[in-house]
Amino acid sequence: MTDVQKELIRAMRLQGIGYKAIARDLHLRRNQVQLFCKTHGLGGDGNLVRLNYVIWCEKTGHCLFCGAELKQPERGRKKKFCSGKCRTAWCRAKQTESDEVEIGGSDA
Ligand SMILES: [Zn+2]
Repeated sequence: MTDVQKELIRAMRLQGIGYKAIARDLHLRRNQVQLFCKTHGLGGDGNLVRLNYVIWCEKTGHCLFCGAELKQPERGRKKKFCSGKCRTAWCRAKQTESDEVEIGGSDA
């Protein structure tokens, strides 16, 4: 599995796409995708992955946006992003998300 494939799996899981569809798109085995997801905080129900992933990143010290491993300082505040670029991109994505929710309204 290449780094590009890993990055794509992560991005697709965060959109709630299932293992089977990811495996098909990336020409991988479903088991490979499933194992990668389970060991990288991307396992379980697609709709919960995005929420769980943030928690997993914070716990294990990975960038919330790109998933890169972070070198945490020994003291002080823990880093959540590997760079300012990722922080900005994350904030922008969050912004877009909440806009969509407001426009779309509730499903009930
Ligand atoms: Zn990053």
